[in-house]
Amino acid sequence: MKTLPASAPEQLPAEIIARIGSFSYLSAACQAADALDDELVASRRPEPELARWAARLHTRCPVNNRHTGQPCVCGCHGRPEKGED
Ligand SMILES: [Zn+2]
Ligand SMILES: [Zn+2]
Repeated sequence: MKTLPASAPEQLPAEIIARIGSFSYLSAACQAADALDDELVASRRPEPELARWAARLHTRCPVNNRHTGQPCVCGCHGRPEKGED
């Protein structure tokens, strides 16, 4: 049993955490969401529960990582201009 820090962006259900075993709460919420997205792709079947949590984590990301002070670079926070036409 791992003890999660109080600053965890979400208390993920144990079965969700189990799907992304390498995930650490030291990361920004979006990194966890990305890990879930990878899991969704890898599973090759609909996983509404995973998708729901991924979306939720993106939504609840504090943007500024409390541990590193670095802003989250996830595209969900307003895309950086990429000049993509
Ligand atoms: Zn984020
Ligand atoms: Zn995000």
